[in-house]
Amino acid sequence: SKRKLWRSSGNSLRTVRSSHILFRCSKVRFASALPKVSMSVLEPDTIIATDKVEETLSIVRNHIRQPLTLTEKILYSHLDDPSTAGSIVRGSSYLYLRPDRVALQDASGPLALLQFMNSGLKEVQVPTTVHCDHLIVAKTNAKEDLETAIAQNGETYNFLGSASARFGIGFWKPGSGIIHQIVLENYAFPGGFMIGTDSHTPNAGGLGMCAVGVGGADAMDVMAGFPLELQAPKIIGVKLTGELTGWTAPKDVILQLTSELTVKGGTGCIIEYFGPGVESISCTGMATICNMGAEVGATCSVFPYTSKMGEYLDSTARSDIAQLSALRSSFLQADEGAQYDQVVEIDLSALRPRINGPFTPDLSHVVGSEFSAAVNKNKWPKRLSGSLIGSCTNSSYEDMTRAANICSEAANHGLKCKIPFYITPGSEQIRATIERDGLLETFEAVGASVLANACGPCIGMWDREDVGEGEPNSLIASYNRNFAKRNDGNSETHTFLSSAEIATVLAFSGDLTFNPETDSLKDQNGNDFQFQHPYGDSLPRHGFDQGEDTFRAPPSDRNVKLDILENSEKIQLLEPWPAWNGEDIKKAVVLIKTRGKLTTDHISPGGLWLKYRGHLDNLSNNTFIGAVNDENGEVNSLRNVLTNEFSTAPDVARAYKAANKTWVVIGGDNYGEGSSRESAALQPRHLGGIAVIAKSFARIHETNLKKQGMLVLTFKNPSDYDSVQSGDSVSILGLETSSSYQLAPGKPLQVEVIKRETQKVHTFEVGHSFNDEQIKWFQAGSALNHLNNNRNSNG
Ligand code: SF4
Repeated sequence: SKRKLWRSSGNSLRTVRSSHILFRCSKVRFASALPKVSMSVLEPDTIIATDKVEETLSIVRNHIRQPLTLTEKILYSHLDDPSTAGSIVRGSSYLYLRPDRVALQDASGPLALLQFMNSGLKEVQVPTTVHCDHLIVAKTNAKEDLETAIAQNGETYNFLGSASARFGIGFWKPGSGIIHQIVLENYAFPGGFMIGTDSHTPNAGGLGMCAVGVGGADAMDVMAGFPLELQAPKIIGVKLTGELTGWTAPKDVILQLTSELTVKGGTGCIIEYFGPGVESISCTGMATICNMGAEVGATCSVFPYTSKMGEYLDSTARSDIAQLSALRSSFLQADEGAQYDQVVEIDLSALRPRINGPFTPDLSHVVGSEFSAAVNKNKWPKRLSGSLIGSCTNSSYEDMTRAANICSEAANHGLKCKIPFYITPGSEQIRATIERDGLLETFEAVGASVLANACGPCIGMWDREDVGEGEPNSLIASYNRNFAKRNDGNSETHTFLSSAEIATVLAFSGDLTFNPETDSLKDQNGNDFQFQHPYGDSLPRHGFDQGEDTFRAPPSDRNVKLDILENSEKIQLLEPWPAWNGEDIKKAVVLIKTRGKLTTDHISPGGLWLKYRGHLDNLSNNTFIGAVNDENGEVNSLRNVLTNEFSTAPDVARAYKAANKTWVVIGGDNYGEGSSRESAALQPRHLGGIAVIAKSFARIHETNLKKQGMLVLTFKNPSDYDSVQSGDSVSILGLETSSSYQLAPGKPLQVEVIKRETQKVHTFEVGHSFNDEQIKWFQAGSALNHLNNNRNSNG
């Protein structure tokens, strides 16, 4: 075999050449032997392009004569032009890739579809699905909450449904489940490459797919048949050894890795797992790990093909993909000797349960004395106010069975939950299966509430009544994000992240510092008892029950009228942005210099604002309302330099827009981290913003801003951040080609600041990451304008 040959040779060139010959031989064999397999049961006519992928990789190997990581094999086999492979430099060059599919959710989907409509195309050019999961508010119970959501968001659902039918998109109705769980159950496949307008799209890495979260404009490009532009990622290899035992769960792998890499450590990287430990983790467990790779800023995460993936494919009615993957197993793992940019090793046997938080996912402690000490030292509220399991991170059948196992044991000792305990099944299929298998009954018997199959409290869609605004309290959740205000809008809610198992057992202790490995609870007779290690089935013994039919395939007759109400408050058609006027930016005002962490939640909060995600002007009333103004240390209080009075951020931005005064934003490190929220780029543009100058940017937000025609600039010298303040005047020089500075790849621009109070002038240089193509986006006013200009000029 190829592997044996590589091991037996000490000469790398000869080795690679040999492997190439063998690869070519095996390609011929594969080309004739590999079966034609549909990408999804729901799309029988869409065939996985195995031959094309193998052929593309064969060309790539002619240019890159060294062993490849799995990440490289998957990405480079999707190159638009594989003959460019020789110029790929990880971490700096740009790849143009052809994703296999696109997934949109109902919060980001409307803007993506509204932009797609402006492309003038009749149907999407790659398989696409829309998922209604973000707009359902958790309040009473699954049934009533779903009915309320359908009544309140009917306009949005009707628009999404009609646009899906018209443009050839599969539509998952509200109640069907969380986008990433549905993708895993129906669409992900080993070796595939997809994008989704959601940060946790990488969940599909649990099924060996490179799945990247992007903004709506990127999705729109791909739906319109253009390649996706992506910076060639660096690759972090995570070697797993040992085996998970006891209370330790797959979630603990990523909770630990998050603490090692921090929220910025994976930026520009793909995390690739390998090593003997991967074999011990279930497919959905691997998905959990990949899901939360988004919290270190990673482009995505991926696992090599294992038998557990095959079992998952079998149990989700995709045995043909399992068989195909087994035939391609050498493709679906890294070549021997493949080089990573960084390697982290985790011994699963030595891993202990962890709790991360509050307010940031990378603050991690081992459950037990280490965490207790941190709780006491920081005076975090020790009494829990609630426990939540679910979200796309931990809502699989395995998560549910392990949580139910703990609940059964508690019930056997006569216990009920001490605090509100909320459970979100990941999909209708999981809900129906756990109902059939008696797990729902087990949960309800101990007093847990089962919420709709949706995002719910994970994205702040939670009508929480038990805790008042400003009241300090702690939540334990098996979710992936815990920025301030994320779950319930209360900045004093301390959300801690853990496995579903730890969150479940803490629902019975009510004590954040309870350690199930060592601590006891009192049973109904007042006797001490200790929980056993949880046990669960990774897959249902009697197969999945699909539950209600919540999918609508696009009709063959696409003559469907778009459902948009006149004077709708939820859906608004988009107008193209104006092109750049060809001049430098002169005397723009600094709308805000942000202080501290600035996530997309701060720029465009979710929660109850999600319902306006299809109406840019209404949505813009939340712009920067969560950001701290460095000038006064306050949230949503900005100086209007035209009146010298303080007002809300959207009001001040609208006042500048009305006065024809462009504005810029000054930011700190990792500006725009968090959700892949395209609205956080569209809103500043809509309200008259022209540039953001920050110390550094989160990847997806940086691209989103560029796509909307914004200037995205970084301080060459980070200390220049200190020299600018909200209300100052800023000129950005060098955009006009006559200048000694120039907007060209790798060239700096000059910024001239006039201080508001003293009128003193200060200049400094800023850098940027625009490439040639992205500069054209800026010049055209947006990526979409550039695309349409190209189409028009090509006839
Ligand atoms: Fe939904 Fe939360 Fe997952 Fe985002 S992270 S897709 S809001 S469940």
